[in-house]
Amino acid sequence: MAGTIKNIALLGATGSIGLSTLDVIARHPDKYRAGALSAHSKVDDLLGLCAKFKPDVAVIADPDGYLALRDGLKNLGLSTKAMSGPEALCEVVVASEFDTVLAAIVGAAGMPSTLAAAGAGKRLLLANKESVVVAGEILMRTARENKAEILPIDSEHNAIYQCMPGDGKHHAVRRLLLTASGGPFRGRTRESLASITPDQACAHPNWVMGRKISVDSATLMNKGLEVIEAHHLFNIAAEQIEVVVHPQSIIHSLVDYVDGSVLAQLGNPDMRTAIAYGLSWPERIDSGVAPLDLIALSRFDFEKADTDVFPCLALAFQALTLGGTAPAILNAANEIAVAAFLDEKLSFLDIANVIDATLSAISAEPVRDLDVLLAVDHQARHKAQEFVNKMGAQ
Ligand code: NAD
Ligand code: MG
Repeated sequence: MAGTIKNIALLGATGSIGLSTLDVIARHPDKYRAGALSAHSKVDDLLGLCAKFKPDVAVIADPDGYLALRDGLKNLGLSTKAMSGPEALCEVVVASEFDTVLAAIVGAAGMPSTLAAAGAGKRLLLANKESVVVAGEILMRTARENKAEILPIDSEHNAIYQCMPGDGKHHAVRRLLLTASGGPFRGRTRESLASITPDQACAHPNWVMGRKISVDSATLMNKGLEVIEAHHLFNIAAEQIEVVVHPQSIIHSLVDYVDGSVLAQLGNPDMRTAIAYGLSWPERIDSGVAPLDLIALSRFDFEKADTDVFPCLALAFQALTLGGTAPAILNAANEIAVAAFLDEKLSFLDIANVIDATLSAISAEPVRDLDVLLAVDHQARHKAQEFVNKMGAQ
């Protein structure tokens, strides 16, 4: 490690969170360095980032990309080591030269590397919410046992973290209030959503994000996943978590204490705030985010989430209440349904139907170990694909 510069392993570097992270890192070359970068299959994008950030290691998760990555790095005259395959992600995050891991892979594909970082006692900047939804108990236990610091990057959880300092006042929390923008279809009727296209679903009013999380925001499954994420990260019962629709996305979430104090964290909707907080905690650094202009905003609105139009939110609460492997089943079915929707093989409304059917078809079991989760993830994907094929053909 060079001086006091923190060496970061950034998984999912080519994505929306990954690029925002690199933007923050580039503002502080005296403090941070991206020592490892990874991408799924876009070798050219990864090479472009390597040319700029000169990491020690670059990982392409898809093994077919290995030769192109290795040769591309050589042609650029870089000494960056090329690695490939999902195992390489785990190998990199446990390496002693990295103190911090930013987990920004999308989906349960990020789970093994997230768990490996926790097991190696790293500071874990956690954006990959699906790994918390699937393996929350194991992840939190692993982090505790290995003294890994988990800093939530999801904006709501980052807000709660900021409003709930680790000062032993946890017992005095009455409720966590998770804010939700309501997504691009807030206020719409169910019927009006029948012929929604992927591009319409991905046109989020406040946030620019990857396509999977954008669809999750449109169905409100994103908020459902976040409820489960909050339950694990903050050890809070489902009944103490409330969702409040706040269309402006300025209040990122709130903590309601027993004495009536409600603490909130506010800011412009830009993930660089949460990322900068995670990188610099317990200090603070400039993130590049514009100052909040309350006068220009002039008002905040709040409303109840409509679970009749957006049943995914209710399905997530149901899975959390069922417990055990139910959240893993929910997540797997959602990943399959969203991918099918983005591929124009499933209608928007059938996303919830596929998840509902999959949750009913597989009974939840206790989570004994990671193998149980991996098996149920596989089984639920298979089942969900059958429902996609059936519903998509109608
Ligand atoms: P994205 O689709 O823009 O980027 C995903 C990244 O993961 C890419 O670098 C991609 O190459 C990589 N990846 C995809 N599949 C992979 C696989 N199978 N194996 C290895 N790498 C793979 O997604 P994003 O919007 O940056 O979101 C990343 C994570 O952060 C998600 O879990 C999301 O829910 C969470 N998150 C994102 C935002 C946001 O504003 N974008 C906010 C909160 C939480
Ligand atoms: Mg969020």
